[in-house]
Formats: sequence, C-alpha cells, structure tokens
Amino acid sequence: MHKITVKLATLTVATLLLAACGNESQQSVDAPTAADSSKPPADLVLRGGKIATADPATGYVEALAVNGYQITAVGSNEDIAAYIGPETEVVELAGRFVMPGFIEGHGHYLGLGRSKQILDLQGVKNWSEVVTMVAVAVDKARPGEWIFGRGWHQDKWDSVPDDAVDGVPRNDTLNKVSPDHPVVLGHASGHAAFFNDAALAMAEVEDDTADPSGGTIVRTPEGKATGLMRETAQRLINAAMNEYNGRLTPAQTDVLNRERVQLAADEALSHGVTSFHDAGSSFETIDFFRKLEEEGALDVRLYVMVRREDNDLLDKALPQYLMKAEGNDFLTVRSIKRQIDGALGAHGAWLLEPYEDLPDTSGLVLESVEDIEGTAEIAIRHGFQLNTHAIGDRAVRETLDLYERVFDRTGVDGSELRWRVEHAQHIDPVDVPRFGQMGVIAAVQAIHGTSDGPWIPSRLGDARAKSTSQPWRHLFETGAVVTNGTDVPVERIDPIASYYSSVSRMMVNGKRFYPEHVMTREEALLTYTVNNAYAAFEEEIKGRLIPGMYADMVVLTQDLLTVAEEDIPNTKVDMTYVGGELKYARN
Ligand SMILES: [Zn+2]
Repeated sequence: MHKITVKLATLTVATLLLAACGNESQQSVDAPTAADSSKPPADLVLRGGKIATADPATGYVEALAVNGYQITAVGSNEDIAAYIGPETEVVELAGRFVMPGFIEGHGHYLGLGRSKQILDLQGVKNWSEVVTMVAVAVDKARPGEWIFGRGWHQDKWDSVPDDAVDGVPRNDTLNKVSPDHPVVLGHASGHAAFFNDAALAMAEVEDDTADPSGGTIVRTPEGKATGLMRETAQRLINAAMNEYNGRLTPAQTDVLNRERVQLAADEALSHGVTSFHDAGSSFETIDFFRKLEEEGALDVRLYVMVRREDNDLLDKALPQYLMKAEGNDFLTVRSIKRQIDGALGAHGAWLLEPYEDLPDTSGLVLESVEDIEGTAEIAIRHGFQLNTHAIGDRAVRETLDLYERVFDRTGVDGSELRWRVEHAQHIDPVDVPRFGQMGVIAAVQAIHGTSDGPWIPSRLGDARAKSTSQPWRHLFETGAVVTNGTDVPVERIDPIASYYSSVSRMMVNGKRFYPEHVMTREEALLTYTVNNAYAAFEEEIKGRLIPGMYADMVVLTQDLLTVAEEDIPNTKVDMTYVGGELKYARN
C-alpha cells in the first residue's frame, strides 16, 4: 500500500509539472534559461534532441528531466534548463531521436538466452551448412554430450536435398557426422524439431511408433522415421532430455539459468528493448524470476504469462502468483498463456479449409477448446488476463468464440479484461471486426508477415492469403488494439526490423506482402510502445515519455517517423535507459 500512495503522489506532481511546461513554452519572455531554485534539480537531463513522447497531446519535445526512475518534466531546451543542478548528468543528444523504450510484445525470455548458448541455425543457407555446424560441435563434445541447435527453416534455404520428405531433409547425413551424440535441432517456428537417430533412440521412437495426439513423426514413403518431429511429437524426447539435464546439480542449473537471463537481457537492451512480454513460463520459472527481481538482477522489465500448468493447479496457485506492477517494477504476473494450434510453416496452423499444398490436413489442434475454456473461467475467477496462441483462421475463430461464450456466461464486460489472441496471423474477414467489438487485443508480430510472406501463398493459395493474412489495416479500421513484437527466438528480437515490416511489408525478395495492409509510421510506433503497454495494463506507467512515466527510453541515430522508408533498417540503437539508468551504449 505504501508504494502505491507514493506513486499516486508523484503522478499528481508530475501532472502539474507538465501543465507548467506547456505554459512556459508558450511564453515568449520570462522563460527560465538557467537553474531555477524553484525546480528540484534532476538526476538526469537529455537535451537537444528530437524526442517523440508517443503522447498525442505532447508530441515532440527537445528535452526531458529524470528523477530516480521516473520522468519529471519534458519540454523545450529552455524549459528543462531549469532542472539542471550541479549534480545533474546532462546528455547532449545533438539532434538524435529519442522514443519510449521498445516493449517486446511476445517473446520467450529464457528461450532467447538459451538460443545464445546453443548452435544458432537462423542464418544458415542450406542443410549441408547445418550438418557442418553439427560436425564441428561433435568434434568438441565430451563423450555422452548432446548437441542442441535451433532456428533452421527449410523455406529460407537456397536448396533442399532431392530426397527431402515434405520439403525437409532426412537425417542420414546427420547420423554420419554424429552417430553417438544425440542431436536435437529446433525449427525456427518452435513447432517442430529435427532428431538424429541417436536422439530418436533416446526418445524411444521406432519406425512403427504411433504418432502422439497433436503431433506427427514424419516418415519416408517406406515408413522410416526421417528425424522430423512435428508439434507434440518433439516432446517425446522430454523424459530423456530431463534426465540428461538432471545430471546437473541444482547449483549448476542455477548458473546456467542465470547466464540465460543475462544473455537475454544483453540482447534485448542492445536492441533498445526495455520491457518484455514473456509468453510464457511455469510457476517454477516465475519463482526463479521473483528471486532475481528481489536481488535486483533483472535488467529488463518482464511481463510473464503463466504457461504449462493444468487447470486444477492454476485454480489453486494463481492467487499466490498475482503480481501487479508497483514502484520501479521488473516483474509483473497477471496473465495466462494457452495455445490452440501450431504454426503455418509446419502445417500446424488450424485452418477453416485444408492446406493448398497438403490437402489432407487442415492443421493441428494442440490444446482442446474445452480445456482452454476451463482456463478462461479460472482466469475470470482470479482476475487474470488470458492470452491464447491462435495462428490459423479456424483457431482465431474458435478462440474468439470461446472468449465470447465465457464473457456471456459470466456476465462480464469483456473489453475490460483485455484478453489477447497471440499472433492472430490469419483471420477470416468475418472475424476481423470482432476484435474491436469484443475488446480483444490482436497480439501481432509484424516481422512474421514479411519473413513468412514468400511462402504463405503456397500454403494457402493466393486468394485466401490475400483475404486472411496479417490484415492489419482492417484490424485498425475496425477498432482493434494491435501490438507488436518478434516472438524471439523465432525471429531476432530487433524491433527496428519489425517496425520496418510494419510500415513497408517488404520481404527479403524485394516484393511487398499485400501492401494494402501496411501500418502508418505513427501506428507502428504506438504498437511497440503505448499499445504493448496497454496489453499489459501498464499504459499509465510506460509506453510514453511524459512526467510520471518510467524513464525507459531509447536513443536512436535517426527519426523512425520521418526517415526515408528504405533507410529505416539502417537505424542504430545508441543508448538504452531503463528506469533512468543507462543499461546499453553503443561503442
Ligand atoms: Zn511464442
């Protein structure tokens, strides 16, 4: 309670300061130009810049003042001069662009850290490069050690072996370079993994093992397992992998996890990301994050969704895990993540009609509608937000339908709950306006639109892709709140790349992906700041650079709102501040 009172008081003072600022800048005389004893000196002043506050009523300012972890004043250079005292650190922006720190709207924090500890297959050009990287790792491995990698995507390669099955190689070459060490290579989407035979043996998968529910063990026409495990089939190795990881002492596991958190923070901060929506983590991981927050060891603010706990446990444990933002907060928990379908790349997205290039399937249902509906009622009972992964048009419709049923049944006003559809990639035109009408948030990752764009029409056919894929303009026009992010480590965490995708829909092949759906520059900036803050109930503390808000901000080399479109990707992050502290500076 104490913290909340202090914060409200600060907000009131801050509001007055804002009004004072506005008045002063309108006066042509008497504007203070030197330290003014009536103003408390700031800890930090940024001046001489182009500061986009992301607050419509304030617009651009030249300077801002910070006390502690909050912004205390914004205005012209003259206005802010009044806050400079002998101890104030003054940063000269020299015309550079400042905006609120980027909020990553959907990513996987420990997954990001882990992706920095294992083979990074995101940039590989073809299968033989993957095999070479594994061979190098095998040379260095100790006996019994497993080889992990992630990030490969067959649709981004320049070629695929002739004997590929469903466009993905067989594991023979991998078995040659690693006959003994189990090799597990995660697909970029997270919705499939590739095993060598040693890993298949560890997973106790033989050629005649039945597919698990919600997953596929891909086989050659002759019936031999190729090594590709789709969706829930990847989990067949979990027992053996847990045993393998279990060889670590708790202290060793702690070291490994702390290293992950640090690697994730470094990667986020160097890209200007100051807050991160983690989608999501178990209670055990949340306990670990809580310990780090108490130690002051979290450098990025985390908004963590509860994940992979069954409904009975959720119902019992949620009250102990409700952590709303207070003070200079680095860990907030008030949402649950569920997942109705898979991803389009691996033919796992749940579609209204079958796949164009695999007509015997309409995708996979990963978690049943009934079970998610049960979670929805628990969420309402405990005051939690529900965020459901839905990628295919059928998955999106089923999710909206179940949200609507639960709103009706419990008599709540759904728009106040701010429930989300994570990804919302393919939406039937009939369902688009329902987001605005129901107050459901479309938690989009714009970068997926352009990196998946080149092959989406092959999965859906051109007409269906055009009418359903990433329909951002229709979402905005029908009143939906649209957020932004990267789903890191599925894509790199780079918000400037996703911003560029948002406003251009430009693909690597130089073509634009149904460009009628581009966002304006302003809309895209809001998706990454104000809207992501709103989607976490935090719009009163972050997402804008005005008095009372966290001093979470990023200094960029050029103005994202005005620079020529083709120059947007060249924008560099110069400095990243979290709570008024400089956490990253470019060399
Ligand atoms: Zn995700």
